[in-house]
Amino acid sequence: MTTFDVINPATEELVGAVELATLEQTDAAIARAQAALPAWKAVAPGDRARLLRRFAAAIDADLENLAQIEVANSGHTIGNARWEAGNARDVVEYYAGAPERLFGRQIPVAGGVDVTFAEPLGVIGVIVPWNFPMPIAAWGFAPALAAGNTVVVKPAELTPLTALRLAELARDAGIPDDVFQVLPGKGSVVGQRFVTHPAVRKVVFTGSTVVGKQIMAGCAEQVKRVTLELGGKSANIVFADADIERAAATAPYGVFDNAGQDCCARSRILVQRSVYDRFMELLEPAVQGVKVGDPSSADSEMGPLISSAHRDKVASYVPEGAPVAFRGSAPDGAGFWFPPTVLIPLSEKDRSVVEEIFGPVVVVLPFDDEADALRIANDTEYGLSGSIWTRDVGRALRVARGVEAGNLSVNSHSSVRYWTPFGGYKQSGLGRELGPDAVAAFTETKNVFIATEE
Ligand code: NAP
Ligand code: MG
Repeated sequence: MTTFDVINPATEELVGAVELATLEQTDAAIARAQAALPAWKAVAPGDRARLLRRFAAAIDADLENLAQIEVANSGHTIGNARWEAGNARDVVEYYAGAPERLFGRQIPVAGGVDVTFAEPLGVIGVIVPWNFPMPIAAWGFAPALAAGNTVVVKPAELTPLTALRLAELARDAGIPDDVFQVLPGKGSVVGQRFVTHPAVRKVVFTGSTVVGKQIMAGCAEQVKRVTLELGGKSANIVFADADIERAAATAPYGVFDNAGQDCCARSRILVQRSVYDRFMELLEPAVQGVKVGDPSSADSEMGPLISSAHRDKVASYVPEGAPVAFRGSAPDGAGFWFPPTVLIPLSEKDRSVVEEIFGPVVVVLPFDDEADALRIANDTEYGLSGSIWTRDVGRALRVARGVEAGNLSVNSHSSVRYWTPFGGYKQSGLGRELGPDAVAAFTETKNVFIATEE
């Protein structure tokens, strides 16, 4: 048996060891999920809804514990971790409203009645990254369960603890063991088996674009359904007519939240040339004001990176001689700390401009006019989110329609609400999670014609 040592990224202390599932254990879990399917499908809609509401209530009652586990496992600030646990609760509660609303249609036909049914797909494999362990798991498993599927979740190796706790809470709420399972393990073992096992009818994957492409290619073999939420390199576009003070004061939080380990991070700040100097003057104190420190402390705004290896990767974008405009602070000593860093690259083709860094490093680039802003914003294979700062409502809408990304905000950096759709354009993903339509992604439409003529 192999185990994985879970390390607290803020202290480098051992949090605990977690057993990693083998291929045989994965196959056994998938077989149990498959066996549990007929009974779960047959649970009356109101009863399935009630079980999910109970699950949401159990998460709510355990919210502080879940948040503390996430602080220790992932180094998230306690404020963020509470939000994340609350988001998982809200997502489960929101989709608890779905079972009685899985409407089909009645379509007029000659000689009979035509109706459609929204039927569950079967066993769903949810593969979760380490950056938002609770929310991203819930965005997959909650609508999947609501639609009558059974679910096996593979958390990231680095961050399995909250997912394991969620499985206990589901059990406490009365959701049968085999309907919702959490299986810590390696991506190359457990995650890969979701792709190749014929009983798994859909894979929900969030993570890197490189692995996402492999998953999609693997799933093609069985025409297996996929939802992909991949990387991003989102633009924060600041026009000269914006509230420059607010745009500068909030820009650090649009990218450095969760230490920049956020697929929606606004990691390219594009500033109209006429206000560039003023914006940079205001950005410097805002970046230096970001409170980086002990994530369990209520006033910390940014914690450490997830691992030593990931810190090395982030640091590779800030080599000796990098065009650093200014940096914030970070604690010394134990922990995978990295200070908020602002780069002013000399070329739009620089690696720091093109690649997803997934850490607290942001590039600032000037632009001339609306067309130039859109050209730069769209000059990327990614298309997940973005922000637009302007007081001109026409410009806000023109640019929002022009940016090739799935989640945009105007005079704000918020991208995620559990009741609005979330997902990427281009290589940022495929399909949408959250919002009113996510359950449909976990059903097949069956059409039935019933002859009425004798
Ligand atoms: P990753 O390698 O794509 O891992 C994401 C999840 O997929 C993990 O659970 C991982 O398991 C699993 N996995 C890995 N290889 C797999 C395979 N061949 N088949 C099936 N599942 C597999 O991402 P990462 O290593 O966590 O992070 C690398 C980069 O991805 C980051 O630096 C960032 O650029 C990007 N990323 C994006 C998001 C996002 O929200 N869009 C989230 C996380 C990371 P293991 O834990 O065992 O590797
Ligand atoms: Mg990986």
